[in-house]
Amino acid sequence: METKGTICQSCGMPLQKDEDFGMNEDGSKNGEYCHFCFKDGEFTDPDITMEQKIEKIVKIAVSRTNMSEARAREMANNIIPELKRWRK
Ligand SMILES: [Zn+2]
Repeated sequence: METKGTICQSCGMPLQKDEDFGMNEDGSKNGEYCHFCFKDGEFTDPDITMEQKIEKIVKIAVSRTNMSEARAREMANNIIPELKRWRK
């Protein structure tokens, strides 16, 4: 499976190392979602809306980087709706 350059299809986090990936119910690596979003075959936040997810990601991005909230929100609004989990 080619996973280089993959991002989590729920939150947009880059998936590079094995430990970045989520886990399927059978313990195998899930190639599409990160370990924050996906654990033991389920989403860790199954009831969250896309808008709530964006808010969460903006807060994380602001606290971990020097990014301004406006910039983080702009990026999240560009990336998140394109991801598999949120596409309708
Ligand atoms: Zn994720």
